Amino acid sequence: MMLKIRDLQKTYGSYHALNGLDMDIREGALYGFVGPNGAGKTTTIKIMTGLLNADSGTVEIDGLDAMKRPRVLKERIGYVPDHFGVYDNLTVSEYMEFFAACYGMEGLTARRRCRTLLEQVGLDEKQDAFVESLSRGMKQRLGLARALIHDPSLLIMDEPTIGLDPRTRLEFRETVRELNEQGKTILISSHLLADLSELCSDIGIIESGKMILTGSMDEIQDRIHTSKPVIITVQENMPAALKLLKEHPLVRTITVKDREIMAGFQGDARQEGELLRQLIEAGILVRGFMREPGSLEAVFMQITSHEDERVVLSYEDESGL
Ligand code: ATP
Repeated sequence: MMLKIRDLQKTYGSYHALNGLDMDIREGALYGFVGPNGAGKTTTIKIMTGLLNADSGTVEIDGLDAMKRPRVLKERIGYVPDHFGVYDNLTVSEYMEFFAACYGMEGLTARRRCRTLLEQVGLDEKQDAFVESLSRGMKQRLGLARALIHDPSLLIMDEPTIGLDPRTRLEFRETVRELNEQGKTILISSHLLADLSELCSDIGIIESGKMILTGSMDEIQDRIHTSKPVIITVQENMPAALKLLKEHPLVRTITVKDREIMAGFQGDARQEGELLRQLIEAGILVRGFMREPGSLEAVFMQITSHEDERVVLSYEDESGL
């Protein structure tokens, strides 16, 4: 595991910003850290990067205790903060060389390293421009190049696409994807799920200082599938269909409109197939059977609104079942 966080706690005065946060980032992951404003993303990132102390809990990087060995943090992490500092009178290459010097690189080695990184983030033509003259998107790229100077194995970016226009955002994402393909483990935070769901291989959703959903995109896609209703169109024998669904242990809600039943179904693809077979074997003439395509947003809404009680069947009174 590249990064392992256990039971992280942080209070600001009496305010509990982190409430037993756990996080695992595997090597090579492009990890999306998502949560609403104030959920505790920046606090977590600041603790990871050694800028803030936690009250309790552990942070391990490559199996080493990062809190006891802050040098480990410094060497292995590259950090792109959400705000860009002000460096008025520096050109892009002076800026980069300044940070290279901070990591002990000088002369030709430093210049070469800086040039390679600027090419990598698409800023090679801006080497002599003043940092202040760069657009927001370019500054963001420069921040990225700077964070990569010491060739860290884990790159952490706090809300990197905030304030960028859609096109710049897309280009930035492409750069992030390339870096990940070249072997960097990356954590990228956002309060917008849609921003990360296509980009990332893994997702962690934080709310009120706790991780509420985490896993690979594949695992989460399965979960999304499971969270969506099955829509069944019944040609004949509606009462039997409703009776079967009502008694089915995986069916949680039923809504009926004309010949169409929308069943909140908690089963996976296989159980879905079995449900169809049961309906047919019960002599119900099923004309249509499909699962509504799901989205990550829907899962997010579902888990954050705690929709886990069985909802009373809306059809119950009318059908007399
Ligand atoms: P955002 O998306 O808005 O940046 P976030 O998920 O990064 O949110 P944090 O910045 O970690 O959230 O903040 C978590 C909570 O802790 C917020 O309610 C915030 O107001 C509070 N908080 C953060 N820093 C401090 C501080 N220095 N003093 C007091 N409260 C703080």
